Amino acid sequence: MQDYKQDTLCIHAGYKPGNGQPRVAPIVQSTTYVYESSKEMGALFDLEEDGFFYTRLGNPTNDVVEKKIAALEGGVGAMITSSGQAASLMSVLNICTAGDHMVSSSAIYGGTFNLFYKTMKEMGIETTFVSPTSTKEELLAAMRPNTKCVFAETLANPSLVIADLEVFAQAAHEHGVPLIVDNTFPTPINCHPFQFGADIVVHSTTKYMDGHAVQVGGVIVDSGNFNWDNGKFPMLTEPDESYHGVVYTQHFGKAAYIAKARTHLMRDLGAQAAPMNAFLLNLGLETLALRMERHCSNALTVAKFLESDPRVSWVNYPDLESSPQHDLAKKYMPGGTCGVVSFGVKGGREAATKFMDSLEMASVVTHVADLRTCALHPASTTHRQMTDEQLQEAGVPADLIRLSVGIENPEDILNDIKQALEKAAN
Ligand SMILES: *Cc1c(COP(=O)(O)O)cnc(C)c1O
Repeated sequence: MQDYKQDTLCIHAGYKPGNGQPRVAPIVQSTTYVYESSKEMGALFDLEEDGFFYTRLGNPTNDVVEKKIAALEGGVGAMITSSGQAASLMSVLNICTAGDHMVSSSAIYGGTFNLFYKTMKEMGIETTFVSPTSTKEELLAAMRPNTKCVFAETLANPSLVIADLEVFAQAAHEHGVPLIVDNTFPTPINCHPFQFGADIVVHSTTKYMDGHAVQVGGVIVDSGNFNWDNGKFPMLTEPDESYHGVVYTQHFGKAAYIAKARTHLMRDLGAQAAPMNAFLLNLGLETLALRMERHCSNALTVAKFLESDPRVSWVNYPDLESSPQHDLAKKYMPGGTCGVVSFGVKGGREAATKFMDSLEMASVVTHVADLRTCALHPASTTHRQMTDEQLQEAGVPADLIRLSVGIENPEDILNDIKQALEKAAN
């Protein structure tokens, strides 16, 4: 399976039906699984045998999707979760406990920022935020003896800032800790964080991976590359008393991290994905490669048009040759970044609001990465309590429109934008 190309893996990885079995991976809507004897079931509980016994810890539908995403990222294992937030939380909690510290790029999704800045701090895990353009020396200066991981987002939502993954990975490894990367926006079709030194990847599968806006979900993928045996991670290298003294690195080898995420964190926190959602996610994944190609080509068409239009004050899209991030984009995402473009409409908050109200095909939603083109004006919605000055400081100017370019015909998308710009200018 590993030899297939990405677009083939999207369709075939994770499921190979036997004689007389369903062609499509079915929804196994069952909490529990039958065994002939207590002894057989006991072996599962003792982690001596592989098998399903309770859906919180594993489900055949979820398993198909987990294997598919692990194959797409090139990892040794994956675990899907009930949301992207749950994936980010568990990816850190798996190796950090109260009293530990982490370093994170400041260019991350707002929900992740709140999770680190407020909730995890209240749980006793402190985060130092650093610039996404930090040098290795700056990153190392932010490390403390109790720093247990480094976190970054490949292509940040919504700023589209690209993290220099190799620099982040080098600094993390020099300190003996893993780099965790949120790869939601580029997806494994456009970026392979493991190839640049990342050790763990997380996603909100709610976005492009699903692509149809029908389920909220997340995933954690383990590269299997990090050496946990350096004395900093006793939770992986010393006996877990809550699991009959299992030592994860001995028992699970390269898959120690992801095995612990499941047997320990999923067992105790229970943020598992529903099998129905896994089924819907799997349908989305089947067309991921095709959709990403179209999202990217449509977004580039839109970005080029916006750049040439006198009613537009600025455009941010890393695939534009004029983008200051173009070199980083080409290095980490040579096949394209994603479908999200942000731009400013001349005339500030008022013109931007008028533009939004005039869109006919594009829907106004907070969601991104849907196959339908959608738009958001943060100054009049998510950030409406802020003044123009505060917005500018937060990097979300009052004229900013975030356009998530869909996979409709590019001419129809352009025509909708053109007519809305026309109305906004009058
Ligand atoms: C949406 C998003 C999340 C959070 O995911 P949910 O599925 O909404 O919980 C995390 N990271 C990124 C980059 C996102 O876009």
